[in-house]
Amino acid sequence: MRNIIFLGPPGSGKGTHAEKISRAMGLPRLSTGDMLRENIRNGTPLGIEAQGYMDAGELVPDTVVIAMIRKRVLEPDCANGVIFDGFPRTIAQAEALKEIAPVDAVVNMTLADAQVVQRMSGRRVCPACGNTSHTDWMRDSICALCGAEMTQRKDDAPETVLERLRVYHAQTKPLIDHYAAQNLLHSIDSGGPVTETEARVRGALLT
Ligand code: AMP
Repeated sequence: MRNIIFLGPPGSGKGTHAEKISRAMGLPRLSTGDMLRENIRNGTPLGIEAQGYMDAGELVPDTVVIAMIRKRVLEPDCANGVIFDGFPRTIAQAEALKEIAPVDAVVNMTLADAQVVQRMSGRRVCPACGNTSHTDWMRDSICALCGAEMTQRKDDAPETVLERLRVYHAQTKPLIDHYAAQNLLHSIDSGGPVTETEARVRGALLT
C-alpha cells in the first residue's frame, strides 16, 4: 500500500507530476479539483455548493471535500494506494486523512509567487480532452492533442489567481511543517523545465 500526497501552490505542476507518478506506479490519481469540477459539470448538489467557492478562488468547506475523498478511497481501484493531488489543503483535512488512509510520502512542489502568477494566468485547458498548455508554448488556441478550442479556467483569471495564492499561504502552507515534522516531506523545486522536475520527483519516490 502506498499513499502519496502532492502539495504545492496553484500552478506548481502538482497535477502534471501527480499524473506521471500515477502512471509510473499504477496507482489512481485523486484530484479533488477535478472531482469538484466534474460535479459542477454534472450539476450535482455537491457541484452547486462548491461552485461559488471555486469561482471566487476560496477553498470548498472541509466537510464537503473530506466526505468526497472518504467515499472515493473505498472504491476498489484505491486498494493498493492512491496519489492525492490537491488534497489535503488544510490542517483539518490532513487530520481527517489520518483516519482515512496512512500517508507514506508527501511531495512538496515549490514555486515562487511571481512564477505562480505567470504560469496560471497563461494556463489554458482543453474542455474536450483535458489537455493543459500555456500561452507561451501555444501557436494558436487549438488543442494540440484533439483540435478543440482551448479555454481559460474561470479561476485562472488574474484577480482570482491572486486570491488562490493568498489562500494557499494562509491555509495550505502550514501543511509543509505538519508533514516535515512527521519526516514525510520531499521538497522539489518546480521552477525549471518539466523534465527536470520529473527527474527530481522520480528520484524522491521511485528509488
Ligand atoms: P485545483 O484544481 O486543485 O487547483 O482546485 C481548484 C479549486 O477547487 C480550488 O481553488 C478550491 O476552490 C477547490 N478545491 C480543490 N481541492 C480542494 C481541497 N482539498 N479543499 C478545498 N477546496 C478544494
